[in-house]
Amino acid sequence: MVVLVAEAVAEIDSLWRGFERRWSNLVKRSRKYGVALPDKQELWSRLLSHYYKGFRCEYCGAQMLVKSPKGKVHPFVWSIEHKIPLSEGGDNSMDNIAFVCHRCNLVKGTLPGYAWEVAVRAMQERLGVELYERAMRMAYRGALANKIERVKKEVSE
Ligand SMILES: [Zn+2]
Repeated sequence: MVVLVAEAVAEIDSLWRGFERRWSNLVKRSRKYGVALPDKQELWSRLLSHYYKGFRCEYCGAQMLVKSPKGKVHPFVWSIEHKIPLSEGGDNSMDNIAFVCHRCNLVKGTLPGYAWEVAVRAMQERLGVELYERAMRMAYRGALANKIERVKKEVSE
């Protein structure tokens, strides 16, 4: 029992540290696009309540992870998503923010979140679990490779 409580506390601590990192990223991006910040406490409360409700991706329903294993990028680690991107006039209202898996976040590319949500549900329904998972794994590998190339380019410039 004591061990379980200690594990639960460590998990919430990791969630908080992950939240802090994503929060500073959100502050930077919000400044860049001149968008008002959400209430930090409210966003944290919402994340925490999402965590206690099973912590599933709001787009695809995948079980999300609090942190990547051994610091590696993992498709199901959580991220803060804007259904309408800040770059496209979206804001930080709670209606526009979703907690989604890294895979959805990366694979949707330039598709706005509200459209991706529909696309994911349609794919899941029509392809079935196995084909859907295979397609998403391929798409994730491709999107991740592209992202790594982009980052390398940015660093070398
Ligand atoms: Zn997802």
